[in-house]
Amino acid sequence: MPSSAALAPTVSLISLGCPRTLVDSELYLGRLQRVGFRAVDSVEGSDVAVINTCSFIQDAIKESIDTVLQAVELKKQGKLKAVVVAGCLVQRFKQDLIRELPDVDGFVGVDGFSDVDLVVQRALDRSGTGQGEQPRSLRPRPQVPHQGSRVTRAALTPPHYAYVKISEGCLKGCSFCVIPKIKGPLRSRPIDDVVAEAKQLVEERGARELIIVGQDTSDYGVDLYKRPRIAELMGTLARIGGVRWIRLLYCHPRGVSEELMHTIRDEPRICKYLDMAIEHADDLVLQQMNRGITQAQLRETIERLRSRIPAITLRTSVIVGFPGEPDAAFERLLRFLEEVQFERLGAFTYAREEGSASFRFPDQVPEGLKAERFERLMQVQQGIAAAVNARFIGHTREVVIDEPDASDPHQFVGRTSADCPEVDGQVYVRSEAPLSPGSFVPVQITDTLEYDLVGTVATTHR
Ligand code: SF4
Repeated sequence: MPSSAALAPTVSLISLGCPRTLVDSELYLGRLQRVGFRAVDSVEGSDVAVINTCSFIQDAIKESIDTVLQAVELKKQGKLKAVVVAGCLVQRFKQDLIRELPDVDGFVGVDGFSDVDLVVQRALDRSGTGQGEQPRSLRPRPQVPHQGSRVTRAALTPPHYAYVKISEGCLKGCSFCVIPKIKGPLRSRPIDDVVAEAKQLVEERGARELIIVGQDTSDYGVDLYKRPRIAELMGTLARIGGVRWIRLLYCHPRGVSEELMHTIRDEPRICKYLDMAIEHADDLVLQQMNRGITQAQLRETIERLRSRIPAITLRTSVIVGFPGEPDAAFERLLRFLEEVQFERLGAFTYAREEGSASFRFPDQVPEGLKAERFERLMQVQQGIAAAVNARFIGHTREVVIDEPDASDPHQFVGRTSADCPEVDGQVYVRSEAPLSPGSFVPVQITDTLEYDLVGTVATTHR
């Protein structure tokens, strides 16, 4: 590897998909930088492009393949030397990709972070020789990278927040989901390893908000410690000096225990926020989905969450158009959402994924009907979101500033603790004085937009 930065080969990285993939991308980039590659933003003109892909559903597969094809085109035009494809798409379809994409110079499966530098270097060495990568099998159960303080992660988010991936894989077997096939069963990272990494992110990167992710975070620890230890982990992370907010994503409602509720309630730095996908609310559909929970149990969990943690913001996601979802089941889902009033909601139309159990289910719902149901559901949620936002008007909330608003020098874009980056709403903050990203300011909320809030800095801030 060249010793001077000027001679160092450059690498550009495109991260697709969810925050879990983003963490892997940060690990890949950190490792490549550590062995001498120089990271650049633009794919065009870089020596090698690494595309970290998602293959969860057909739309994600299409986006991944389109991105790879664009990079291959740049390579053909001589604007890029090598293309490496990494992540879920490779884990799911590697042999097909090698056959169909001969211009790709290297492939890395999920958790391939320990040899990503070798694959990238080999790809660069091989580029222009006309030799594609030879098929080789992926590890059937990729190992979860133990990151701790020994591993360098590049930052692909603003420095004031960072995702922390506490586990890989999943023990549940939801019938629509191919994740356990792609990522294998649950493998949790040891508590001290997670804590060491979190401290590093706070002390070295300056992260003040930690966002905890995994496939099913509520199951954290079951494999390693024979019982879930997510509550204990959250409590330990909350005591790291310098952390302001900790946010928990991707809980299965079955795993939201009393202990976890009490920890969220009692630790001031844990955001009173929980991301918990219900997927549906009709008993028969829930059963067909193999969610292991009924509508009554969902309602009971939500009631307990709201009574234990009164100001909690609940985020959920639902799927419409699951095979055999009759009109009545969809209506039951709508009524449940109207009754429960999730503050945040993401909806998806059912995607028929090869390899999932539900792929072969009869009574697939026509695409048009799925789209209709999706629209109706989103209209219902819009009304709920507007009512939720209206409650903020006239109140002062702590807001973290994410970035200046490019269109107005006196406006800044931030979030309350009830908003997760990328998926929830934002707060447009008026301030005569400049506000730096990562600062926490009290903001008086004066107005609402569809899913966002508008406000003015209330007093002097830290
Ligand atoms: S909990 Fe269900 S939907 Fe989530 S990753 Fe596991 S199998 Fe997939």
